[in-house]
Amino acid sequence: MDCIFCQIATGKIPGDIVYQDEELLAFRDINPQAPKHLLIIPRKHIPSLAELSPAELPIIGNMVALAHKLAQQEGVAETGYRLVVNYGEWGGQVVKHLHLHLLGGKKLSDKLG
Ligand code: 5GP
Ligand code: ZN
Repeated sequence: MDCIFCQIATGKIPGDIVYQDEELLAFRDINPQAPKHLLIIPRKHIPSLAELSPAELPIIGNMVALAHKLAQQEGVAETGYRLVVNYGEWGGQVVKHLHLHLLGGKKLSDKLG
C-alpha cells in the first residue's frame, strides 16, 4: 500500500498524531494553511467521499464530531474554525484517502473558492 495516510496510520512513516482510536486518526498537516491545521482520517483506506458506502456513513459523522472535540482541545472552537473535504480534481483532492481538514486559529478567508 503506497498510500501516505495509511502509512501514517500504521506508523510506517512519522506523523504528528494528536488523536487515535480504533476507527479514526488525527494529525497535523505537513503544510499548514492556518495556525491550526489538522487532518482527520478513517484508519480504513476509503479513497474519497465517492467510495463511502451507506454502512460507512457513520464514519463521516464521527469525523465531524471528533473535529469539534479537537477544535476545543486546540483552543480554536470558541473563535471558530472551518471543516473542508476536497473531492476530485477541481475540488483539489490530492491525497486519495478520505480526510477532513480542520482549519482554525486565525480569521479565515471569506472566499471558499
Ligand atoms: P487534499 O488537497 O488532498 O485535500 O489535502 C491533502 C493534505 O495532506 C494537504 O494539505 C497536504 O499538506 C497534506 N499532506 C500531504 N502529505 C502529507 C504528509 O506526508 N504528512 C502530513 N502530515 N500531511 C501531508
Ligand atoms: Zn490510505
